[in-house]
Amino acid sequence: MRLYIKRDDLIHPVISGNKWRKLKYALVEARQKGVTEIISFGGGYSNHLHALGYCCNKLGIQFMALVRGNYRATPTPMLKDLADWQAQIVYLDKATYQLRSQTDFIAKWQAAHPHALIIPEGGSQTQALAGVAELLNEQTQHFSHIVLPVGSGGTLAGLIAAASTNAADTRLIGIAVLKGQDYLEQQVSALLPQHSFDNWLIDHDFHFGGYAKRNQGLLAFCSTFYQQTQVPIEPVYSGKAAWALKQRLADGYFPPGSQILLLHTGGLQGARTQ
Ligand SMILES: *Cc1c(COP(=O)(O)O)cnc(C)c1O
Repeated sequence: MRLYIKRDDLIHPVISGNKWRKLKYALVEARQKGVTEIISFGGGYSNHLHALGYCCNKLGIQFMALVRGNYRATPTPMLKDLADWQAQIVYLDKATYQLRSQTDFIAKWQAAHPHALIIPEGGSQTQALAGVAELLNEQTQHFSHIVLPVGSGGTLAGLIAAASTNAADTRLIGIAVLKGQDYLEQQVSALLPQHSFDNWLIDHDFHFGGYAKRNQGLLAFCSTFYQQTQVPIEPVYSGKAAWALKQRLADGYFPPGSQILLLHTGGLQGARTQ
């Protein structure tokens, strides 16, 4: 058995990991079309808003971040960065934010900003799949299993689609970082070009109670992991995936001879939540 780690956290200090993979082609197209404004959605600690806000600032595109909840009095480090990068931040109450993927709601924002490109939460849209596929296509090694954290599902969907054409016996194991049994499976399936893929599953045993929830054990694991490997991980995404992998290895889940890839999706911004 062999364990590998793919360090997409090293792509860039701000646009790290899967956010770059998912946004790449949306941004290429935005540039080609001369888009002057981008609107997207996320929580107060969103790596997606943070990465996208940085890119827009560099590309001279106006960025509007629609944020879940009101952080006006206590902006997070990510929201402060967004403000420094000239993003326009709009706080939505939680009930309104719930509507974020509904057609009517999107249409209303589009009508108010007719020239804007609207990108869904997490950058998880069909266009993201091609960027994520590049991650797998860069590998010369064959893996029996790839383990990765799952938030909105775009990264997992991209890997499922890429593996189905180039690495048919690779199993994709998503570790849910939030409570989302069934919901997450539906999100992933909705992004796939066809629904018959059976090369994947989502493990729901390691969300630690919900998005960004953690305990002392997980925090201690993240710091020990760093001490032993010099690979930084954080408790929101990569820490939960690494913890889950360790647990499943201990359970004897992986057959002898497995070649396992742990995907470090980046996002060390998550270390700033506390
Ligand atoms: C956003 C994010 C994820 C979740 O990816 P999805 O494609 O939304 O499932 C995982 N890891 C990190 C570091 C992230 O920032």
